Amino acid sequence: MFTGKTINMGVIGNPISHSLSPAMQNAGIQAAGLDYAYIAMPVRNENLREAVAGLKALGFRGFNVTIPHKQAIMEYLDEIHEDAKIIGAVNAVKNDNGHLIGYNTDVTGFIDGMKQQGFSPAGRNAVLLGAGGAARAIIWGLIKEQVKSLTIGVRNVAKVQSVADYFSRYLHIEALDWSSPEFAAKLSVAQLLINSTPLGMAPKTDAMPPVDWSRVQPDTFVYDIIYTPAETLFLRTAREQGCRTLNGEAMLVGQGAEAFRLWTGKELPQEPMAAALRAALEG
Ligand code: NAP
Repeated sequence: MFTGKTINMGVIGNPISHSLSPAMQNAGIQAAGLDYAYIAMPVRNENLREAVAGLKALGFRGFNVTIPHKQAIMEYLDEIHEDAKIIGAVNAVKNDNGHLIGYNTDVTGFIDGMKQQGFSPAGRNAVLLGAGGAARAIIWGLIKEQVKSLTIGVRNVAKVQSVADYFSRYLHIEALDWSSPEFAAKLSVAQLLINSTPLGMAPKTDAMPPVDWSRVQPDTFVYDIIYTPAETLFLRTAREQGCRTLNGEAMLVGQGAEAFRLWTGKELPQEPMAAALRAALEG
């Protein structure tokens, strides 16, 4: 039930009708009994400047930012948090009494998901498959959490060398062809293995990155940031190998909860958010 005091928040992007954030955030808001509302707002590229000014004028407390505005939004903000600056993308904006601050909450979402399962990446050897948009937040999160080593496995090393070089100012990162013997050797000593490619995502659920599973140790924590299906072929294979596994649901819920925390200082209960997410994905 909205009132005259309801505080507005939402998500901008284009297209936006597929966004899971309204269902997820409103479920958390409702469970917490708070007077906030969260809506999806389509914003075309050419309208981004006006949309940001409009949300500020309307007193929106905060809003998420999704494709295609995660980079372009930066020039319309007053301040960019360090994580977002380093990653090069903003996914949440806080309106602090007219002062707009850009954040990247994927970092917290990704890391908290693992920690909730009792796994800490600190001091571990990590292997990351894929190096696209989501991978930058993952890489930065792992560096902040002080992983011991980080290897990126991809199909095209030349394409991702600049990403490895960029982050190597913080931690030496090796980018390897995921079908090479050097990469297989890294798999043997990995305590954390992450898939950030879309391989295995619905509807192409019979795909997965070409991992030599004979090299993966049963005590490796295996994390797939895909959330549909709930168990990808990659995760199923890891589970059958005896590994602990985690899908991308916790990351998605976690980034939303972190945005809400930044905007309001309040915690949202994550279980109703996850349930709403599952219902939206199944519905
Ligand atoms: P992206 O920017 O397109 O990057 C995808 C990466 O996977 C690239 O390194 C790409 O390599 C590689 N890749 C794509 N198709 C491939 C194929 N057929 N064979 C081999 N490598 C392939 O995508 P993204 O935004 O990082 O998203 C990746 C996945 O993460 C998606 O499934 C998305 O739904 C999921 N995601 C989840 C969350 C969450 O909160 N759980 C958040 C963000 C993203 P090339 O450059 O060689 O194509």
